[in-house]
Amino acid sequence: MTVETFGAWLREFAAAIHANAALLTELDSAIGDADHGTNIDRGMAAVVAVLDDTTFDSADALFKKVGMTLVSSVGGASGPLYGTFFLRLGAALQGADPVDATTFGVALRAGVQGVQARGKAELDDKTMYDALAAAAAAYDTAADQGIAAALAAAATAAAEGRDRITPLVARKGRASYLGERSAGHQDPGATSATLLLETAAAALS
Ligand code: ADP
Ligand code: MG
Repeated sequence: MTVETFGAWLREFAAAIHANAALLTELDSAIGDADHGTNIDRGMAAVVAVLDDTTFDSADALFKKVGMTLVSSVGGASGPLYGTFFLRLGAALQGADPVDATTFGVALRAGVQGVQARGKAELDDKTMYDALAAAAAAYDTAADQGIAAALAAAATAAAEGRDRITPLVARKGRASYLGERSAGHQDPGATSATLLLETAAAALS
């Protein structure tokens, strides 16, 4: 993986978010404040504008800029969370070019831990962290089979994490204000996080 393939991933993620923005906002209307689709769509459109304007000479410089762009352009909890994910991902890729499957796994884990540290979510709190943590674990298990297998496993695990938490009661974020009424609704952030891993599998392998 190189800075070019990472740019392609970010563009695919932006396109997937745009295509699913209405769905993400609809999910957030049930257990939040109906803005997750517009939040992430705005942030990723800002990222694409940066990609169009700037040539990056390393993956860590690219992801640092992406993280800062998301933090500054997205209102709502998810901007700083995704921003932290990309900042930590980039920091862990420092000096690696091209990036191999093992290094990307370490960076993915660092990004996911950044989300956990920033949002203080635990497993089963029903957030994006559940999808991301499942993805990082599955990636590690499959990493010795190569990047394509590892990313495919990560994408499948993210979707399983997203669906596994639907019956749960949310304990973090706005959905937690609903208490028991949050149970049975799909989490918007876990849904966008699954798109992040699915587009990684498509663009990076
Ligand atoms: P807001 O809740 O501020 O309106 P968004 O609607 O953009 O922000 O994002 C909501 C999503 O953010 C939730 O579906 C959940 O997955 C995620 N989220 C919220 N709080 C946290 C947290 N503390 N840790 C991890 N993820 C969180
Ligand atoms: Mg919201």
